[in-house]
Amino acid sequence: LSDKLDKALHVLKGHGSITEVNVAETLKEVRRALLDADVNFKTAKEFTNTVKEKALGQDVLTTLQPGQLMVKLVKDELTQLMGGETAGINLSGAPTVILMSGLQGSGKTTFSGKLANFLKTKKTKKPLLVACDVYRPAAINQLHVVGDQIGVEVYSEPENKNPVQIAQNAIEHAKTNGFNVVIVDTAGRLAIDEAMMTEIANVHQAIHPQETLFVVDAMTGQDAVNTAKAFNERLNFDGVVLTKLDGDTRGGAAISIKSVVNKPIKFIGTGEKMDAIDVFHPERMADRILGMGDVVSLVERAQEQFDEEEARKLQKKIAKNQFGFDDFLNQIQQVKKMGSMKDLVGMIPGAGKALKDVDIDDDAFKGIEAIIHSMTPTERSQPSVINGSRKKRIAKGSGTSVQQVNQLLKQFDQMSKMMKMMQGGGGRKMMQAMNK
Ligand code: GDP
Ligand code: MG
Repeated sequence: LSDKLDKALHVLKGHGSITEVNVAETLKEVRRALLDADVNFKTAKEFTNTVKEKALGQDVLTTLQPGQLMVKLVKDELTQLMGGETAGINLSGAPTVILMSGLQGSGKTTFSGKLANFLKTKKTKKPLLVACDVYRPAAINQLHVVGDQIGVEVYSEPENKNPVQIAQNAIEHAKTNGFNVVIVDTAGRLAIDEAMMTEIANVHQAIHPQETLFVVDAMTGQDAVNTAKAFNERLNFDGVVLTKLDGDTRGGAAISIKSVVNKPIKFIGTGEKMDAIDVFHPERMADRILGMGDVVSLVERAQEQFDEEEARKLQKKIAKNQFGFDDFLNQIQQVKKMGSMKDLVGMIPGAGKALKDVDIDDDAFKGIEAIIHSMTPTERSQPSVINGSRKKRIAKGSGTSVQQVNQLLKQFDQMSKMMKMMQGGGGRKMMQAMNK
């Protein structure tokens, strides 16, 4: 056996011919899922490139179950991108001082309450909430309502308009009254402005918090990244709180923020109630972003349906340059075996939802099949003989147009070229070609 053929067969043993398509396809879907989940374009692209490199490095295509390995690679990489491990919070200090930062409406006040409640359940923690949003009486009131709800004391000075002083006084109050965690809620504006940044930076400098948390609404998507950047430049915060993950949002902001500011996401908020708080788990978020169950079944289904014997026969034909339209027809039938198009599209994260009401049926294949059926055996095995007058005859016979016949011939030509490439350089070359 020649080296080339050996290599090609080896690829096929691992269901190479279809899974190479799957690798590229899977990554395309992953990228789409990431974009759907509000991951910024650059991050999504870098991510899929990294996974592709790793896939090639591990010779995914020559393993027994390339699809599963692929899925695992994607998930692991995504988990890694979000910090890998769950990040804890620093509860050292006497008392521990935790400062909240973020835009107005991001969920700082709500999260301050949730965190106090969360810590209270640890028997050794006695939290104190501090109202440093001094501009709106309603804000101070809001924190008192929250405090009452969870049975946590709230420190406020309604007449004092200096947040730095209030925070310092609160810490003194905590020391003399046996509180060991001080959670400082601050004011936010609707957009980043210099006055707000200076104010929170001053508070930060004065009280030396063990934890400065940046609270961000997950639904703000791309904007979340810019806000995170601005706050991080001023505060060099320790961690991120991603709120409002109970909605439709998929949480891609988690990835974008992590990759831009390189700070761990520590908690997530999943509702308005005081117990709607969770420690952030990168792996679970990876599942959520990818709608992973669906990607897994898509890949598995594609693999199941591809008959290995069929593939081997095909490989022989390609090797002998005998691949023709009959084989092409065969391939289409294989694809159809995988299930209806609508089913398949439904499994693609993101796309499923968007295309739910669009009517996709298998008619897309019908035209192609009709054209091939109208070809003579010679034309099928040697497509190069198909000239202008033959094209006209085929179009007429199949109830299509010459344009459609041309289109199919072009597709076929591309497919044949790709197959030859596969033979020559193995999977790597093909993947490169497909991802240009
Ligand atoms: P602040 O201006 O940063 O203090 O934000 P608030 O804590 O006042 O929250 C703004 C709004 O978002 C309020 O209506 C909250 O009830 C709501 N909110 C906060 N966190 C969550 C969350 O995790 N899920 C949902 N659904 N709503 C939230
Ligand atoms: Mg507030």
